[in-house]
Amino acid sequence: VVILGIESSCDDTSAAVIVDGVEMSNVVAGQKVHEAYGGVVPELASRAHQKHIIPVVDQALNQAGVELSQLSAIGYTRGPGLMGSLLVGGSFTNGLSLALKKPVIEVNHMRAHILAHFIQNLEKSRQTPEFPFLCLTVSGGHTQIVLVKDYFEMEVLGETKDDAAGEAFDKVAKLMGLPYPGGPVIDQLAKEGDPDKFRFPVADMPDFEFSFSGLKTNVLYKLQKGSQSDPDFVAKNKAHIAAGVQKAIIKALLQKLERAAKKHGIKDIALAGGVSANSELRESLTELGKKNNWNTFIPPFAYCTDNAAMIGITAYYSFLEKNYDGQYRPPKARMKM
Ligand code: ATP
Ligand code: FE
Repeated sequence: VVILGIESSCDDTSAAVIVDGVEMSNVVAGQKVHEAYGGVVPELASRAHQKHIIPVVDQALNQAGVELSQLSAIGYTRGPGLMGSLLVGGSFTNGLSLALKKPVIEVNHMRAHILAHFIQNLEKSRQTPEFPFLCLTVSGGHTQIVLVKDYFEMEVLGETKDDAAGEAFDKVAKLMGLPYPGGPVIDQLAKEGDPDKFRFPVADMPDFEFSFSGLKTNVLYKLQKGSQSDPDFVAKNKAHIAAGVQKAIIKALLQKLERAAKKHGIKDIALAGGVSANSELRESLTELGKKNNWNTFIPPFAYCTDNAAMIGITAYYSFLEKNYDGQYRPPKARMKM
């Protein structure tokens, strides 16, 4: 089974070839245009996707040594994401499938972040979680604890009521005058900071819900207050602030994850989404896993942020289990799990 996966939900254009569940290529073109704006500008994103999509697909096929005629199906991200961005990958997929007379398989981006744990590599085989497992999905647009019962049956146990964890990192970074995306910058800065110099409380939410919007307001007030008495307050303390904010976010995430694992009696615990690239989160989850006797699954960096290999592997399982009808459907900016 040969699958071409296509991802264009936000600001990364990506194409990948998956052959029998094994990644043969996974090409990602990022978009630098957004850096100057401190966030993704949707109209610029869709234009950049248009520019990147054909070269990216070409490169993915070349690297894999696969011809278009060999494809079994084309998987694409139908949602959730930015409408203009999704339309580029979707329309491209539709056109290609009509020309080749190959079936299309729609993929939900959030499921794909989770199923990235099943991508196999040629060099070394990867350990995969066993169903049912729990996945903490933390990305730029989502923060969810998901009970994964099967490749297709997933139940969201709880999620954020406002900002996503990645969004919280990015917004705090913006307040501190750091470049976009702020998550990786805060991660680096935090390594040099004292996480207990400033404390940032995170709202206590019921069950498995999260709320991160209060955090940025709290940071804003602390920065304003500090700058009143010392104009260099932010410059002097940015590592400590980064470390404090990071600690608060991770504490909120892992508290709920541990609670969910206990309630459901689950020992296979996975991490997914862009924020799973965070070094402190990876270490803290590993430690928590040792304490609780969990099998923890932390994705390699290439599978944390947006990539088409995760779209390809999701389409691959749909193909295997004949869970698709081959028809193209226009994108959905909001799409339920
Ligand atoms: P979604 O998947 O919800 O649609 P998205 O696709 O935009 O959103 P991803 O690409 O999965 O999100 O993740 C991007 C987010 O991950 C950004 O908010 C970014 O700041 C964050 N991020 C990336 N690396 C790190 C890191 N090392 N530490 C913290 N956050 C990080
Ligand atoms: Fe994503």
